[in-house]
Amino acid sequence: MTDRRETLATNLRAVRERVAKACAAADRAPSSVTLVAVTKTHPASDVRRLAELGVTDVGENRDQEASGKARACGDLDLAWHFVGQLQTNKCRSVASYAHVVHSVDRVRLATTLGREARRAGRVLRCLVQVDLGQGGGDADTPSGSDGAGADRAGADPADVHRVADTIADADGLVLGGVMAMAPLGEEPGPAFQHLAAVAADLRARHPRATDVSAGMTGDFEAAIGCGATHVRVGTALLGHRGGDVG
Ligand SMILES: *Cc1c(COP(=O)(O)O)cnc(C)c1O
Repeated sequence: MTDRRETLATNLRAVRERVAKACAAADRAPSSVTLVAVTKTHPASDVRRLAELGVTDVGENRDQEASGKARACGDLDLAWHFVGQLQTNKCRSVASYAHVVHSVDRVRLATTLGREARRAGRVLRCLVQVDLGQGGGDADTPSGSDGAGADRAGADPADVHRVADTIADADGLVLGGVMAMAPLGEEPGPAFQHLAAVAADLRARHPRATDVSAGMTGDFEAAIGCGATHVRVGTALLGHRGGDVG
């Protein structure tokens, strides 16, 4: 098990270096970027090791897995980020352990999350997930095995204000900002620039909604170059998912 700890320590160091380099290139302070370690499919023991190594923010994309791990790691002082597609019937559970929900993409979801947060006596920071579309045409995305980019998700950019206003008006919710994934198989820069514009537009209306969650293992440098404040990194930290687990 010390081997696993070594692997995670090495990976974490490498990711932090990549973040620092991207920040330097963008003339930004490394402290302006929060690293969210996406631990989906990896065991709670890995979450614990990462916490020991200084990771403070953990991301998950499925409620069942996330709720179990959050419980198993309840003694750790971690912020849990829910980053996956969310059904309204999972809101009660997610509201019981999540601190940040990155994937709020419709009014009804915001309304339900607000109700469940109040019921649980908790406050959830919510980001509006934006669908940046496929520059090349339609949404013919291959279905992934683990949910990353598997389905079309996110609000149409034209609907972002409606979802954001619902979050901002809901007791129990705090509007954090926006989240997006770059379209698969495309140069991510233009998509992240589009997101930066959506984020600026949102800040004009909600000045405290400063979070921009963008960038994963393959593209977080580009996202940092476009102003990402939260990068969601799985593979580079924990290894490949689905059997071949580092
Ligand atoms: C899995 C996942 C990530 C992390 O992806 P990696 O490419 O493994 O870094 C980030 N965001 C979301 C929404 C995910 O589902």
